[in-house]
Amino acid sequence: MSALSSLEGTQHALFTPEEIVEYAKKQGYFREDEDVAAKEIGDGNINYVFRLTGANRSLIFKQAVPYARVVGESMPLPLDRVRIEAKVLEQYAKIAPEFVPHVYGLDEARALVVMEDLSHLQVGRTALISGTESARFAEDVGVFIAKTIFYTSDFYLDPAVKKERIAELSNPGMRQLTEELVLSHPFAFHETNVFEDELRNDVLWLSRDERLRLEVAKLKHTFMTKADALIHSDLHTGSIFIGEHETKIFDPEFAFFGPFGFDLGQFIANLFLNGLGTPDYLHKRFRNALETWYAFTDTFSRLWRDESVEPYTKVDGYLSYLLRNIFSDALGYAGCELIRRSIGIAQIQDLNYESDKQKRIPRRKAAVELGKYLILERHNIRSLEELENWFQQLKLA
Ligand code: ADP
Ligand code: MG
Repeated sequence: MSALSSLEGTQHALFTPEEIVEYAKKQGYFREDEDVAAKEIGDGNINYVFRLTGANRSLIFKQAVPYARVVGESMPLPLDRVRIEAKVLEQYAKIAPEFVPHVYGLDEARALVVMEDLSHLQVGRTALISGTESARFAEDVGVFIAKTIFYTSDFYLDPAVKKERIAELSNPGMRQLTEELVLSHPFAFHETNVFEDELRNDVLWLSRDERLRLEVAKLKHTFMTKADALIHSDLHTGSIFIGEHETKIFDPEFAFFGPFGFDLGQFIANLFLNGLGTPDYLHKRFRNALETWYAFTDTFSRLWRDESVEPYTKVDGYLSYLLRNIFSDALGYAGCELIRRSIGIAQIQDLNYESDKQKRIPRRKAAVELGKYLILERHNIRSLEELENWFQQLKLA
């Protein structure tokens, strides 16, 4: 039985705003006599997010239902993702507390996590579309990725502890979703894909290009088998909050022990997607990708030098070998993300807000082409800077 279908028949009640206030008071998050307002603010595709505001503080209550909110019961999803989210945020808080919301509570029976309210910040995707991002967000994300993957890898963790964590956070159902929606369906002319008629041939070719499909097959296999470190696994720009002086990473419900390069690739792809969706931003987003990559390599290399417990890390050439592999994997996963966001089920605003088809279609096609290029050439591209040539030949209105 698949990890997803095993959930069928789960009994689970979604709170109404009134019920959640009552619950929050009973659990001691607010006083019984306090005036508490509850509002559902989730723009997410998957879960329900309530913001509760009392006399002195506000809190976020995120509740899961056993299916994806945007699709309905035909797409079952494990409720256990809430436990994963809370546990992973707790792990992150030990490693990089400045970058994550504080978790106040987890109620597994109700599939509910209670966390710090970050409403004073802007969701990353919104900020990037309106051009109101901070100067530091891209670098912050690079530092966050370096810290979280180094401290949860075999270069730092006790080998026995790491293996326990791998089992504790195995997250099969959510991984299956990524395996299908990111790494399979976009390359198989699948019914879940979403695209305009003008892209029909592009989508058809993705499913017929055996050279491309061989490379995606390798990337998928790596995703399914390589337990390098605890990765977020859904680190797109809608999973970060941006403020002038702070950047927060949230929503790690897809997290598991996976390949080092996945988060970097997914994040950089979303920077490129934003730049392709708004060509005036393209150069800026390319610079942002460089900022993320260099913040990542600087931080990771420093941690490797100063804090590694693995004796082989002293061997000449080992770090460059590793960074080279992380880089090519990241390019490959960036390619898959570019393609699935252009023609897959999980559409993004960056590529959709433009109502003029003459502009929108070429932008979307460019994202597919860049995706193919990154997947096929990931072992030949020596540095991110080289991509500037690819962007320069683009002519987008
Ligand atoms: P989903 O898992 O359904 O994608 P998200 O965790 O991405 O849910 O949250 C959906 C939306 O809810 C976010 O885009 C944001 O607007 C809001 N939200 C989520 N967590 C918080 C938080 N801690 N503080 C403020 N708003 C939040
Ligand atoms: Mg989300």
